[in-house]
Amino acid sequence: MEAALNKPPLLTGQYAFFFDFDGTLAKLKPHPNQVSLPDNVQHHICKLAELSHGALALISGRSINELDKFIQPEQYPLAGVHGAERRDINGQQFTLSLPKKQMDTIRQQLQAVLGNIEGVQIEEKPMAFALHYRHAPGSATLVEDCARKIAGQYPDLTLQQGKCVVEIKPGGVNKGEAIHQFMAEPPFSGRIPVFLGDDLTDEAGFDAVNQYHGVSIKVGQEATCARWRLEDVPAVWAWLSGQVAYFEQQRAITSRRADYESFGRSL
Ligand SMILES: [Mg+2]
Repeated sequence: MEAALNKPPLLTGQYAFFFDFDGTLAKLKPHPNQVSLPDNVQHHICKLAELSHGALALISGRSINELDKFIQPEQYPLAGVHGAERRDINGQQFTLSLPKKQMDTIRQQLQAVLGNIEGVQIEEKPMAFALHYRHAPGSATLVEDCARKIAGQYPDLTLQQGKCVVEIKPGGVNKGEAIHQFMAEPPFSGRIPVFLGDDLTDEAGFDAVNQYHGVSIKVGQEATCARWRLEDVPAVWAWLSGQVAYFEQQRAITSRRADYESFGRSL
C-alpha cells in the first residue's frame, strides 16, 4: 500500500520553485482551452518569483507559447512539452525539433487511425503529438496501442502517459532533465529545488528534486516518488499563499533590522 505522505513543511531557506501547470496550479477542465489561473494565484506566483530572486519556473507538457498566454504579462523561465523546449531567465530559448517529414508522416498515421473517432483529440505540438481521450474513455486502449506502434517505428521517439492522454515525444526529454538544466544555471543554482506536480509525467521531476534532497510535492492521491503530498489544486493555492506570506514577513523583518543598524551607525 502507498505510504501516507504529509503536507509539506513551511519552507524557510533559499529555494528554487518549479511548478507543473495543469492539475497543479490550474484546475483541470473538460477541454484544455477552458483552463485559467485565478488572479490571486497569478499574483502569488509573481510574488514568489520576486521573493526568490527569479528562481521560479513552470514545467509543463504544454508548449511555451500556450503557457505564456496563461501567465502574461509576466515572463517566467519555462519548460514546455515536458522539457523539449526551455526558456531561461534571460529569455533565451532552447528548442528540440523533429524533422518536418517525420512530423508529417506521424500526423498522417494518427489521422488515419484516430481521425474519425469521436471524442479523441489529436493535439500537435512543436515536436510532439498529444492524443487526448478524456471524452472517449472507451478508446483508451486503441489510442495507446496506436501511439505505441507509431513511437516504436522511430528510435528517437518515446511515449509519455498522462491523465487521459498519451504523448509521442522525443526520447531523453522529461521534466526531471528540465529541472536539472535549470538547476545548473542562475538564479536556480545553489538553491534547494521544490517541485509540485499532479501527473505521471511529473514523477521524473520528483525524482530529480529528490536527488538534490529537495522538496517534491505530489498533488492528488496517486502513488508517487514525491516525499510530500497536497490534496488538490485549492490546497496548492493555500500552500502558495502561506509560503508567500511567510517570505514577505521575513523580508520585512530583515529590512527593519537593516534600518535599525543603519540608524545605529549614523549616531
Ligand atoms: Mg499536470
